[in-house]
Amino acid sequence: MNKFDLPERYVGNDKSVWVEYIQLALEHKPLNLGQGFADFAPPDYITKALADISQGPNVLLHQYTRGFGHPRLITALSKLYSKLIGREINPQTEILVTSGAYEALYACINGHIETGDEVIIMDPYFDCYDPMVRTAGGIPKSIPLRLKKTSGPISSSDWVLDSQELESLFNKKTKMIILNTPHNPLGKVFSLEELTIIADLCKKWNVLCISDEVYEWLVFEPNKHVRIATLPDMWERTITIGSAGKTFSVTGWKTGWAYGPANLMRNAQVVHQNCVYTCTTPIQEAIAIGFEIEIPKLGQDDCYFVSLPRMLKAKRDYMAKFLSDVGMIPTVPEGGFFMIADWSPLESKIDLSQETDQYKDYRFTKWMTKNIGLQGIPPSAFYSNDYKHLGENLVRYCFIKTDENLKKAADILLTWKNK
Ligand code: PMP
Ligand code: GLN
Repeated sequence: MNKFDLPERYVGNDKSVWVEYIQLALEHKPLNLGQGFADFAPPDYITKALADISQGPNVLLHQYTRGFGHPRLITALSKLYSKLIGREINPQTEILVTSGAYEALYACINGHIETGDEVIIMDPYFDCYDPMVRTAGGIPKSIPLRLKKTSGPISSSDWVLDSQELESLFNKKTKMIILNTPHNPLGKVFSLEELTIIADLCKKWNVLCISDEVYEWLVFEPNKHVRIATLPDMWERTITIGSAGKTFSVTGWKTGWAYGPANLMRNAQVVHQNCVYTCTTPIQEAIAIGFEIEIPKLGQDDCYFVSLPRMLKAKRDYMAKFLSDVGMIPTVPEGGFFMIADWSPLESKIDLSQETDQYKDYRFTKWMTKNIGLQGIPPSAFYSNDYKHLGENLVRYCFIKTDENLKKAADILLTWKNK
């Protein structure tokens, strides 16, 4: 052991699909449907708000703000979520603004996990859950969402948990379950029935639910987003996480939040105050203005939270069609902006012998980037070691892209197929 080796708790986490695939895109300049971000402008009012703040008379907006959240933003968040959750949310004690949803996850996990605590995570999962739990001293317990359909069109609702298998993971050591709805990468929107099963087990075993709802507004009709915190007796044991990046299509603004009961939020605040302490003031001010504009329009056609998912639904349908036309088997998502597809029917068209990665989906996505000029993400990155094989025939594509770029992706794939 060398004095300057990576600390033991991080060993095994040195590989990141994001670091690797962003570099790959820089080198090969493919059409990039990998990392999730919009390639079109966010709503005018939010970029205008930021521009006005940058030149405006309130010079204090360029200085530190309140550590647990800028007052104007926590006021807006409290107004929004009090309405959605159906209870008064105290902006001072029940909300924490963070550096993206990433930091919200980090603060919640590190603020609650003691060495040896067990945390239930559903495979596939947004890849940071597992390392965050492990480095906090926790033990991830995996349960896969399994595809229950073998023929015909596939929806993300066809990916399901086995409720008995889920129940078997709960025990006295279980401290937390991490839920993600709408789900990355499957696009699954958990139904009330599914959430009720999870909630009942949380109550039975006195378990904290961290509900990652960063795609809360990106749900396609007729599906409905249900917040697990609204289920009976769940507010007391749930922390819900959101992201301005997804809400206003500004992922580069890296601002998120967590809300829940004060006793649970206190632990997350302690982690936050001892790492980043406070988040960017002008960005928080601009997001607050964005919410102030949207809150009165909630549910209406001219609300961005209504128009954005409608626009995405058309893009989803377009992508599902061209992936099917090319011979892949897409899972049509109920929410979010990712689509996974089984590419294995195309295996005979591909020579992966030059690629050296352990998992086939890494070999496939790298080969596609280098040879066909289209980049996706290998879903095995979202699986724990026990279940990585479940992701090997899949690829994840992002569809929050201009129609022009989606058309280019379709052309790239169809030209390749017809070669
Ligand atoms: N959770 C999920 C499910 C995500 O897909 C992402 C990626 N944006 C995050 C959390 C992190 O969000 P942010 O960019 O706000 O840190
Ligand atoms: N959440 C985004 C995705 O899944 C971005 C992740 C990241 O940049 N680490 O693609």
